[in-house]
Amino acid sequence: MSSIGGIGFRIIPLPDLTHYFLEYDEWLASGFHGDMDYLVRGKEKRRYFPEWANSILVCRSFYNDFSWGDVDFEACGLIAKYAVRDDYHITLKMKIYEILLEIEPKAESLRYKIFVDSSPVLEKPVGYFAGFGFIGSNTLVVDSEWGSYFNIGGAFLSVSNFEPSNPVTAEACVDCNLCVKACPTKALIQPGLLDARRCISYLTIEYKGVINVDKARGMGNWIFGCDLCQEICPLNKRLSDQNLISYARAHLIAPPLDFLVSLDEKEFYKLFSGTPVSRVGYVRFMRNVLVAAFNTGDSNIFSTICFKLKELKIPLLENQIKELEESFYG
Ligand code: SF4
Ligand code: SF4
Repeated sequence: MSSIGGIGFRIIPLPDLTHYFLEYDEWLASGFHGDMDYLVRGKEKRRYFPEWANSILVCRSFYNDFSWGDVDFEACGLIAKYAVRDDYHITLKMKIYEILLEIEPKAESLRYKIFVDSSPVLEKPVGYFAGFGFIGSNTLVVDSEWGSYFNIGGAFLSVSNFEPSNPVTAEACVDCNLCVKACPTKALIQPGLLDARRCISYLTIEYKGVINVDKARGMGNWIFGCDLCQEICPLNKRLSDQNLISYARAHLIAPPLDFLVSLDEKEFYKLFSGTPVSRVGYVRFMRNVLVAAFNTGDSNIFSTICFKLKELKIPLLENQIKELEESFYG
């Protein structure tokens, strides 16, 4: 594998993804994608590579630079590791441009199309074919040496004169199932099968409505994403700075809930500027803070946060408060 400025990359021939498309179709048909209708709309596009493409540049950027075991959680909101730093949609894309600049002089009339969550691509199987690891019971690509804390992106290329990549190795999970057991909402309904509707990442980031009290109870104090099924994995190792393209912003790791609820909309966007968190928007972020306050079980914290959020007079927050208050005091 080649690397440039903290990311690893390979150029591979177009892989045969037929098997993965069938699995994906079944997953969508089962409704496990919840309200992510854009996945259904983009389904057919995922099936085909651009007609001019004959190879794929596949890149990964790691982000495992701290351990949740070292963090004091009490009355704090937890944000998934990938999101407490510069947005990988931008940092990884910049690195991909750097690599393309290296490739360009060696490739005649290079055509390319970059993907970093921006185009309908089955990134995980593509990562597998690039030799980044196997698809684990936690449904992520897991490198047997470095684990799963990395984002995948790349570019379709009109290049065929590249060094062939190493063959894909037949590694697999160490069969510990720790990720499945660690999932607090039972979203991993069996090894390798995710019901996104139950997943904290989906509920905190993708889901736009009121979170019902049963689901809210399982969310603990995660306010953007969730790392539990990765953190438990024995294959995940902490990386040194030279392996990273962006570093965790220390002040965003587990901020106190009372601080977060004190932010107005402008302060929220300023605090999370340039990170993936800003993409969820102020209102849904505050909904998540409210759920985390509910899960503290501390009536002082919960009532203070309800009081502050009621002042905003935003229907989603008012309805979320109603949903949780009854159960909290009932
Ligand atoms: S991200 Fe969290 S909620 Fe989702 S499957 Fe993993 S442990 Fe479960
Ligand atoms: S926790 Fe165990 S079963 Fe889950 S992905 Fe890691 S090695 Fe595989």
